[in-house]
Amino acid sequence: MNILFLGPPGSGKGTQSKMLQDKYGLVHLSTGDMFREAIAKKTEVGMKAKSYMDRGEYVPDAVVIDLIRDRLSGPDCKSGFILDGFPRTEPQAKALDELLKSLHMELGSIFFFDLSKEILVSRLSSRRTCRNCNRVVSVDQLKDLPTSESCAKASGPCDFYQRTDDSAEVVGKRIEVYQNQTAPIIGFYEKTSGFLRVDASSSPDAVFSVLEKALKKA
Ligand code: AMP
Repeated sequence: MNILFLGPPGSGKGTQSKMLQDKYGLVHLSTGDMFREAIAKKTEVGMKAKSYMDRGEYVPDAVVIDLIRDRLSGPDCKSGFILDGFPRTEPQAKALDELLKSLHMELGSIFFFDLSKEILVSRLSSRRTCRNCNRVVSVDQLKDLPTSESCAKASGPCDFYQRTDDSAEVVGKRIEVYQNQTAPIIGFYEKTSGFLRVDASSSPDAVFSVLEKALKKA
């Protein structure tokens, strides 16, 4: 099962990836998570990506394509993966196509997470992310989380923070960049078999059941 998630930042791709990963054991390939990990480890790729990310701009195609090429060639991806946050530009879409061909892989399902700009802005500005396991919650949910809940990747509870690029100043820029550079590639995938437009304004459980139903038919 190889899945591609398309959609603007804040549309719930990461949340659904984690739900599918937990239930079906798929590898979650999030280029955003890869960059944040690289920044935390202060690697060369992380240092290259940081200034772009902080400004809400895209990291140059060559850097992202190299990263995904390395990761997608890994043996764990052979049993199924979810691509979340890649491709985001036309050259990335072309590179993915070539890469999949060279690895004798194909995409079984392509989901486009459709959400209005108003909801995106409010979701992004109120979301908090765990530094360790990348779990995402809203400020409202944060208040109600049981203190006994522990992080999936570290001992103790999740360590939630607001990503620099989720700040009110950067959110508008990210949505603008998405509309200029990523929205145009949706048209290309729309014509591909396995494409489904998903109403991403529903609850995470409701979206998940739409995805599962589609995956069962695929
Ligand atoms: P995300 O966590 O997917 O919202 O990604 C956070 C940031 O990482 C984006 O705003 C970009 O700066 C960078 N990034 C992630 N994936 C890509 C990509 N495919 N192409 C360019 N930049 C990316």
